[in-house]
Amino acid sequence: MGKIAIMGAMPEEIDPLLAKLENVKENGYGANIYYEGSYGSKEVVVAYSKIGKVFAALTATILIEKFGCEKLLFSGVAGAISDDLKIGDLVIADGLCQHDLDITAFGHPYGYVPEGEVCIPTDVNLRNIAKQVAKEKDIKLKEGVIATGDQFVASFERKEWVGKTFKASALEMEGASVAVVCNALNVPFFILRAISDSADMDAGFDFDAFLESSAKVSAEFILEMVGRIEE
Ligand code: SAH
Repeated sequence: MGKIAIMGAMPEEIDPLLAKLENVKENGYGANIYYEGSYGSKEVVVAYSKIGKVFAALTATILIEKFGCEKLLFSGVAGAISDDLKIGDLVIADGLCQHDLDITAFGHPYGYVPEGEVCIPTDVNLRNIAKQVAKEKDIKLKEGVIATGDQFVASFERKEWVGKTFKASALEMEGASVAVVCNALNVPFFILRAISDSADMDAGFDFDAFLESSAKVSAEFILEMVGRIEE
């Protein structure tokens, strides 16, 4: 059984995980802290990357290449695009795309660069474990595309555009870069987000009000999953 990486972007997203981690060893590396420990019988490495695609790619790479993690789970918060996603609701990515990647001047679609793909799918087995947890615990779990970009979206127009262009259900600032790294390194990965805001005019206010509670919802669900990961 290989090590499992659990990452978030901000301290608030990993604090509820660290609270349940045992035999914790702190490692400083690459201007960040990686927490090695155990959760039940599983060996895990937990870290928050800092916000945005570049920091998230760096952390995912280090979790895999330096700490030897063989699976990666992301836990955090996101802005809702779909009307059926309310604050505190959970959404899992079936695929992730970069909504701010734009070389359309050359006739390419939004989110595409040569030798890349617009939408990177997440691991089906991990998604199935999530669905099993949701079913057993009677938790509402939506599955859809999550769009990532280096911007906090607090605009109805931008959110509608991202929703339409990528058929996305939610948006955030790290998922797709983690997807690029895990896909290239052949590491099964999973992205879970609990809604903190609706990416509209009130997003900044809602985010501050609900970051902590939504981050906790996501982290607790992830820990339920970790216990069920078998191979
Ligand atoms: N308040 C923070 C900044 C948060 S940025 C500070 O001042 O330091 C928003 C974070 O939550 C990102 O990590 C992103 O992944 C997620 N997120 C939640 N709602 C979002 C939204 N509406 N748009 C983009 N990212 C969002």
